[in-house]
Amino acid sequence: MSSAASHAPALGVAGALSRDALEHWLRETDPARLDQLWEAADETRERYVGRAVHLRGLVEISNHCARGCTYCGIRAANRGVQRYRVPAGVVVDCARAARRYGYGTVVLQSGEDYGLETDWVADVVRRIKQDAGLAVTLSLGERPDEDLTAWRKAGADRYLLRFETSDETLYRRIHPDLGNRVSDRLAILRTLQDLGYEAGTGIMVGIPGQTYASIADDIDLFRDMDMDMIGIGPYLPHPATPLGEEFAGRLAAGDWPADQAANDELTTCKVLALTRLARPDSNLPATTALSLVDKQAGRTHGLSRGANVVMPNLTPPEYRAKYEIYPEKAAVHETAEAIAQSIEDLLAALGRTVGEGPGGRRTT
Ligand code: SF4
Repeated sequence: MSSAASHAPALGVAGALSRDALEHWLRETDPARLDQLWEAADETRERYVGRAVHLRGLVEISNHCARGCTYCGIRAANRGVQRYRVPAGVVVDCARAARRYGYGTVVLQSGEDYGLETDWVADVVRRIKQDAGLAVTLSLGERPDEDLTAWRKAGADRYLLRFETSDETLYRRIHPDLGNRVSDRLAILRTLQDLGYEAGTGIMVGIPGQTYASIADDIDLFRDMDMDMIGIGPYLPHPATPLGEEFAGRLAAGDWPADQAANDELTTCKVLALTRLARPDSNLPATTALSLVDKQAGRTHGLSRGANVVMPNLTPPEYRAKYEIYPEKAAVHETAEAIAQSIEDLLAALGRTVGEGPGGRRTT
């Protein structure tokens, strides 16, 4: 038994776990103790957000990006990426498909692409609301307040912007500013809330240089921020990025900073479960990255350790392959129908139901 296990703090919900208790649980390694954590997260999920799993159809509308995040495969400096923008009509068709599959929400995601003009995005949002009647989530990067305001007026319901890590020094290292505009994602998240969006954020787990103590701070911050959605995925190194190269070098040399957090399935599940306890009524996806780090059990574990959302990829396959923010992200051979079916089968096997309606934190 680990020394951590002998003092495991009692589990509780809605703020009952102190910042130190969170850190303790992140270091827990005893399988029996971890079973208690999984059980507590699953019970909390059942009690606060129910059995339904909400499906959000993801459409990756552009892989252009102005930024240089050091972990991301579609960063501006990566010349090996074939760039695309999905035409508006195709995006709206994807939303119609989402409706046919019974999804309540469509998520439009892109790099920080200023070629996606304010009015173009507003028009697409309006057409989706009109033609498909779905909730619309945007995930388009750190756009100026005027854009966020225009899109909210056009009918966008939610906005996702991960802060990735609350460790300021690490954040600056992995997410360089754009020109002289200082990146402050926490401020943008507050603006989104003020504009009436349901706001979502999230982190990566196991970034080189990220400690367990820092992840405990992240979860503590989720608790304070009243976020509607929180996405948690492992850091998956992309070889064509500066951070991916650093990761490979450290791996080869066994050279890790003290207290380096692991980027594995188990650690990601601990963060997910503790986040469910810290924010019992938020919407938490079983992320694609989690399902890739353990192809057999990642998604199942996510859904049974706190998650209540899945985001099936509806991006047409010819574009999907080019949205490689981390390796193997795109299941390019699977059609949207096949993805929809496999998720339905998984939910049936887990005894979970498909959520009806938009599935928002404030709209259901
Ligand atoms: S993480 Fe987002 S903003 Fe950063 S480079 Fe990748 S797509 Fe662009």
